[in-house]
Amino acid sequence: MSVAARWFQAEFKGDVFYAVKANPSPWVIRELVQAGVRSFDVASLNEVELVAEHAPGSRMAFMHPVKSRVAISSAYFDHGVRTFSFDTHEELAKILDATGNAKDLNLIVRMGVQAEGAAYSLSGKFGVEPHNAPALLLAARRATQDLMGVSFHVGSQCMRPTAYQAAMAQASRALVRAGVLADVVDVGGGFPSVYPGMVPPDMSEYLAAIDRGFAEMMVHETTELWCEPGRALVAEASSLLVKVELKKGDALYLNDGSYGSLFDAAHMKWPFPVKLLRKNGDVVEEGLKPFRFYGPTCDSVDHMPGPFYLPESVDEGDYIEIGMLGAYGVAMTTRFNGFGETDTVEVQDAPMASMYGLAKRSIPTHKPESEERKVVRFSRPKGAAGKRKRRR
Ligand SMILES: *Cc1c(COP(=O)(O)O)cnc(C)c1O
Repeated sequence: MSVAARWFQAEFKGDVFYAVKANPSPWVIRELVQAGVRSFDVASLNEVELVAEHAPGSRMAFMHPVKSRVAISSAYFDHGVRTFSFDTHEELAKILDATGNAKDLNLIVRMGVQAEGAAYSLSGKFGVEPHNAPALLLAARRATQDLMGVSFHVGSQCMRPTAYQAAMAQASRALVRAGVLADVVDVGGGFPSVYPGMVPPDMSEYLAAIDRGFAEMMVHETTELWCEPGRALVAEASSLLVKVELKKGDALYLNDGSYGSLFDAAHMKWPFPVKLLRKNGDVVEEGLKPFRFYGPTCDSVDHMPGPFYLPESVDEGDYIEIGMLGAYGVAMTTRFNGFGETDTVEVQDAPMASMYGLAKRSIPTHKPESEERKVVRFSRPKGAAGKRKRRR
């Protein structure tokens, strides 16, 4: 995580806000602070308070386009938050009202952009439509003497660097039509991680596309560039260790599932990488066979289809490490049905795959090779060897 955070801060030509929702664990906030992160993208009053406690003095941007008045007021008056995002005139009016018509606000218009290549869409629900954006940009420009900006989210786990450039072009057109210059261009999150069958291009290609997009925008000399990575900073930072409670044919019943840390494995059917550990700690890798997982709750939604390739000999009492769960894993955990209790321990081994040179860039998918070739790219990050040395 600190390697990812340092990489982003060194390579991104602007300010890096960590999107707290990806993993709001206090240890994550504290480690990011140690890695030099001073800016946080928050979406609720709880996240504001969390950052205030574990990263005191840092800068927060309240980027949820729909906020309660209480949250806005408390963020502004109690925690010094000055940056707020919105996608309607009503929310802008609410922000102005709840801050006592403050004149020192940074007002960021969230635009809905058409973006392809993301696993998760974040534009269906939020973002002003392009034809309504100019009026809102103009209203924002008039409402503040501080920074006025534009933001978007291309969707999470974005596999196409050019999606950022395309979104920036859409934002630029709205700014030109409004006849205003933005002080902030915030390209949001969406930067990918590695999962089985999903090997994104080099992260540097994303930043290069953003550079090109920024160069083509009509901005002024001091316009700031921001980004809000969530997944890309924390996905590699955690694994989940689960216990096999029962084996029934190719189904393994585990003590965690869709209501715990495996939301994406159940609902997105992502086949996260797995590793079998015997009770004595031995790692077994031979004789792989596809398995499905079931979680511990009583309903049939609690099913992770995988396929997860594990040794045929896997059995009750064995442990399975499920990798790449640092983002949107713990964050989604509920206590439904009395399950969901976890312990957190710090370990020093490499992630199962890495965008930052800490491990290989791909995870075997056990698909026929012809199918795999479409998505796998074997390029290595620039300076990977040097980065690896810096790990811890
Ligand atoms: C979720 C979210 C992010 C982080 O998205 P990732 O895909 O995890 O990088 C950033 N900004 C906003 C406004 C978000 O809602």
